[in-house]
Amino acid sequence: MNNLQLGGRSVKDDFPNLSQHNNHMARFLTLEMYNKLREHCTPNGFTIDDVIQTGVDNPGHPYIMTVGCVAGDEESYEVFKDLMDLVIQDRHGGYSPTDMHKTDLTPENLQGGDDLDDNYVLSSRVRTGRSIRGYCLPPHCSRGERRAVERLSVEALDSLTGDLQGKYYALKNMTEEEQQQLIDDHLLFDKPVSPLLLASGMARDWPDGRGIWHNDNKTFLVWVNEEDHLRVISMQKGGNMKEVFTRFCTGLTELESLFKEKGEAFMWNEHLGYILTCPSNLGTGLRAGVHVKLPIMGKHPDFEDILKKLRLQKRGTGGVDTDAVDGVFDISNADRLGFSEVELVQSVVNGVKVLVEMEKRLEIGEPIDNLMPSAQW
Ligand code: ADP
Ligand code: MG
Repeated sequence: MNNLQLGGRSVKDDFPNLSQHNNHMARFLTLEMYNKLREHCTPNGFTIDDVIQTGVDNPGHPYIMTVGCVAGDEESYEVFKDLMDLVIQDRHGGYSPTDMHKTDLTPENLQGGDDLDDNYVLSSRVRTGRSIRGYCLPPHCSRGERRAVERLSVEALDSLTGDLQGKYYALKNMTEEEQQQLIDDHLLFDKPVSPLLLASGMARDWPDGRGIWHNDNKTFLVWVNEEDHLRVISMQKGGNMKEVFTRFCTGLTELESLFKEKGEAFMWNEHLGYILTCPSNLGTGLRAGVHVKLPIMGKHPDFEDILKKLRLQKRGTGGVDTDAVDGVFDISNADRLGFSEVELVQSVVNGVKVLVEMEKRLEIGEPIDNLMPSAQW
């Protein structure tokens, strides 16, 4: 329902039934707030109903607490501030409307990170998102805007050199098998089967304007027009998070200057950091994670609590909608906003070391009590 013509209907006629819902949006959207916000839309025509549709259609999620709303453009965070600020505060550990975000993309500031145990850590990955200012975000962009984002991105990416040199593969030019192979190799986003993506409007016109760019070694990858304009990823096998983060910072910084040379800028402000489609990714947009073998720890009654204290999050190895298989988890930072990139990667490095040490202790039947973390920060 994104009809701006209220046609004499009362706010109660249009207010969604959120009584069964468990997401951040549903916690805060009141009739009064909805009544006020439905009188507004962004300069691109994004309405409060567009913002909340994904959360209305998806009452909950089996593995993660979802956000329940999206931005359709940079202005969404301002125009729908009444709701967005509360969601952001709730999702990002009390981050308030006056807090300022910080950025640190200096890999030398990371302590260690080249010493995660390869016997447990199968692969390491750091990703973020970036949005190009002046273009609507995937839930609201037109076909033309999406194609323009693709064109601009590929031009910039094609200028990368050295280890970062690579090639763009548009989804529409790939066979089904080629796509599936990249998905199975954990390099490419899944098809838009998730109801969260579908309801937000991000999957419109699939696969038009979507694709993946990667360097020859498949260690630096950029997804174009999935959930964000750009998802920038550095990854490799094993536990050398330092190397992964270093490549991530170098590639991202080079990419940003290539965009600048073309007169383009990424959406950013001092309060929200980098602006992305999902409010959960604001700030750094950074998710640093490892695929790690924790078959015993993963079944420990305190596992969830320990992750929480370490400010970490678990997923399955097939992505956000999957569960762990054979005790292999995707363990990553839970925070994105209010901490710098270096701080977040550091928390993953430190936390994963603790988890691996616990796993080793449990293997030989030793207690883990003295390794128990206290709440960080
Ligand atoms: P994102 O946060 O990038 O959206 P998803 O949970 O949607 O992550 O997963 C996207 C893809 O990235 C999946 O195929 C997943 O298996 C892969 N992936 C995520 N983390 C890692 C990792 N540490 N090592 C290897 N592949 C990973
Ligand atoms: Mg994803």
